[in-house]
Amino acid sequence: MRVAPLAGTGRRWVRGALAPLVDFLLPSACIACGSRIAGGGLVCAPCRGRLRPPPAPRCARCDYPAGTGDRPGRPCLECLEWPEALGPARAAVALRPPADVLVHGLKYEGWRELAPLMAQLMERRLATLLDDLEEHVITYVPTSAAHRRRRGYDQAELLARALSARTGLAFAHLLARRRQKRTQVSLHPQQRMANVRDAFSLRPGAGQPADGGDVLLVDDVLTTGATARAAAETLARAGVGRVVLVTFARALPR
Ligand SMILES: [Zn+2]
Ligand SMILES: [Zn+2]
Repeated sequence: MRVAPLAGTGRRWVRGALAPLVDFLLPSACIACGSRIAGGGLVCAPCRGRLRPPPAPRCARCDYPAGTGDRPGRPCLECLEWPEALGPARAAVALRPPADVLVHGLKYEGWRELAPLMAQLMERRLATLLDDLEEHVITYVPTSAAHRRRRGYDQAELLARALSARTGLAFAHLLARRRQKRTQVSLHPQQRMANVRDAFSLRPGAGQPADGGDVLLVDDVLTTGATARAAAETLARAGVGRVVLVTFARALPR
């Protein structure tokens, strides 16, 4: 059974004066494995160690591990149909335990405090690209209005804001989600594409990047890429130059 950790705000409040006693009575537990974390924190060191990028070698454009969707020297089938404006894409970690627990925690369980940790890993994975991104505006793939109403926040926005704070790149709300016909989870790739084709519009009154400006697009998970493609196409139609995609996790075949 997982030990319920003391919620972040409460933990911070009591931590000041009574830290040693609180640590003894209410030790913080790792969100992923439930083990006690001495000195506090959300994810224990062994679980952090298991958060790893998708295995190399990877497609230089879409980050997909070679040998699963393509062969060396031949075009990568994963990003073959991506719009010209989209790419490169990078994912901080492969969507394998415990990354899946973090994604779920941020998206469905209200663990907003996870966003800075996840953004830290995204920044690390972007390291070699960051010099090229200086002029980029950071935006995010918005979740459905229903999800946002239910949770009170948008997980991708939290990641984008945390990444903006870490990198100094300016944050902007550029995209609005028009509607959510069906959840993407149970759909095949072709169905996913049709389901999200018209999902996005440019947010009215958004501080838009100058014509030809570039955008760093943030999402929590990259699965088939259908959602990211639709978002990138909307941005491209609005005059954005290049869209670089960064997600916390990348779904991979088992
Ligand atoms: Zn752990
Ligand atoms: Zn690729």
